[in-house]
Amino acid sequence: MKNDPVEAIVDIYLRELKLPGMRSSYRAVLRETTEKALGPLEFLSACLGAEIETRRANRFKARLKEARFPCVKSLSDFDFSAMPKLDKLKVTSLCGGDFVGGKENAVLIGPSGTGKTHIATSMGLGAIEAGCRVRFVGALILCQELELARAEHRLPKYLKSYDKYDLVIIDELGYLGLGTGGQLLFQFMAERYERRSVVITTNLEFGRWVEVFADPALTTALLDRLTHHCHVVVFDGDSYRFRQSQKAAEDRKHGRSRPKPADD
Ligand code: ADP
Ligand code: MG
Repeated sequence: MKNDPVEAIVDIYLRELKLPGMRSSYRAVLRETTEKALGPLEFLSACLGAEIETRRANRFKARLKEARFPCVKSLSDFDFSAMPKLDKLKVTSLCGGDFVGGKENAVLIGPSGTGKTHIATSMGLGAIEAGCRVRFVGALILCQELELARAEHRLPKYLKSYDKYDLVIIDELGYLGLGTGGQLLFQFMAERYERRSVVITTNLEFGRWVEVFADPALTTALLDRLTHHCHVVVFDGDSYRFRQSQKAAEDRKHGRSRPKPADD
């Protein structure tokens, strides 16, 4: 009822107690429980349920924002028939987020356009849904930020800022050499070793990582740590993007129209 003094007080209490889910839903819940002739316990239970649901949704939204995914891509958007050699079972299980609980790592290896970033993002989403905190970052940007932090004498603080994330997704390792950033990336991994999870996407097989880090001993030490408790997923196939644009060109040639491929 509008302007009801009791409702006004309830609103004030719920605001003060920081119960937004209950505040936005208790009137509807009250109507419904009255209509169904349910008791006060059912009313209370539905209100608390609404509050829990609101908090869960808000937390998910906040964690999605802090993850900084370049684009939100879920497993259900992924067409496994386009990648017949991909280990669907392994990918599906990794997107469930359990590996993060086990402080395990994953490396997604394959040529450009085969869906590595898409799956890495889906893995991140799965981890968030499982209650984890996730951060997505490009390998090059991470190295630049690490170098800047070192130059400004705040490297320990910068490294610590990643400690709150249960999972860090490092995207596109190896497309460009990392220079002195390679050593810092090693330090970054060493800090997380066996405490937190890392997912790396790369177009370079392990044998070529030395080209990125330009130091054989460091590369061996890094691979040693990273691949201990590690899931390796190989993306073997042609670029999905390339195939989509080829199909579209074919269709145009034959006067057929088809939906635009998903952009990234
Ligand atoms: P990579 O990181 O391996 O270079 P991306 O994950 O960026 O590749 O994929 C390129 C684009 O193609 C993205 O828009 C992605 O969503 C899409 N894509 C790739 N593989 C698939 C697939 N099997 N099903 C659906 N979309 C895909
Ligand atoms: Mg990519």
